[in-house]
Amino acid sequence: MADPESTVINNNVNQKDPKEALVIAVTTRAIFDLEKEHEIFLTEGKDAYVKHQQANEDNPLEPGTAFAFIQAVQAVNKKLLEKNPEEKGLFDVIVLSNNSPESGVRIINSAKKYGLEISKFCFVSDEDSTQYLKTHNVKLFLSADMTDVCNALQRGVSAALIFQQEIQTPSSQLRVVFDGDSVLFSDETDRVFREKGLEGAVKYEKSMEAVPMGEGPLKAFALSLGKMRKKFDQEDSPIRTYLVTARSGRDMGTRAIKTLREWGLAIDEAFFMDGAPKGPILSKIQPHIFFDDGLHNIQGAQDIGIPSALVPCDCHKGSVEPNIVM
Ligand SMILES: [Mg+2]
Repeated sequence: MADPESTVINNNVNQKDPKEALVIAVTTRAIFDLEKEHEIFLTEGKDAYVKHQQANEDNPLEPGTAFAFIQAVQAVNKKLLEKNPEEKGLFDVIVLSNNSPESGVRIINSAKKYGLEISKFCFVSDEDSTQYLKTHNVKLFLSADMTDVCNALQRGVSAALIFQQEIQTPSSQLRVVFDGDSVLFSDETDRVFREKGLEGAVKYEKSMEAVPMGEGPLKAFALSLGKMRKKFDQEDSPIRTYLVTARSGRDMGTRAIKTLREWGLAIDEAFFMDGAPKGPILSKIQPHIFFDDGLHNIQGAQDIGIPSALVPCDCHKGSVEPNIVM
């Protein structure tokens, strides 16, 4: 990044190869609880915010919603290196922040205190920090800012919106849950459902059974995660992936399964909920992150302490409410 407005602090953490690594970028508000500080920024302005962060430099921030996910990703790196000390295909975590470097010391100190292995801290003062995602080969971007997430999606990077929430302690194995329609898959069937109702959508799916679905916003990340998953056997894998979809298995499951097969994406477990709430199954799985485009599903998961990430499908309209049922 040659931009004089940005500062990159490269930590040179072990031998990650940017071409082979699975790069995840998180913003500071996704990984740490910065709600109080954000409020200072909004109400009292940038100077008051910087002053507050400098005065609290040695006072570590509390973990945020994406914190456990990042910790779990690092635990997988440890397993990968145990299997093969020369392994280059590791997870690589970048922290992207609109903070200035002077207010960023608290962020770096907090990451150090928790032993987080962050390869780069990027303090960028640009309005649109997502322009750096492609340069860094980022496969997943998590942010607490809707505009950021929409910009990333428009740049073709898998991205989701994180809300500050209470979380229960997830399982020690890295568990990632994907919704199907409008997340892994495109929104084509959602659109048919909105126009023609459930009966119309079932009919459409039957007629299209042999045609794989289009790719959704999280497909690229899911494929990279799937490759990581394949490095381990089923029994000793530190990664487990799930599909939890509102589709019914009987009428609409086949096309979903065929599409995953066509993509070469092996998902460990798939749940076809037939419209039932996803909460009970999520509380059994205890994932580190649950991706869904339905705000009602996200809220249901948050209520039971599941770290949740909204994949907005309505970016161009500037609306957070995705108006989706699948
Ligand atoms: Mg969906």
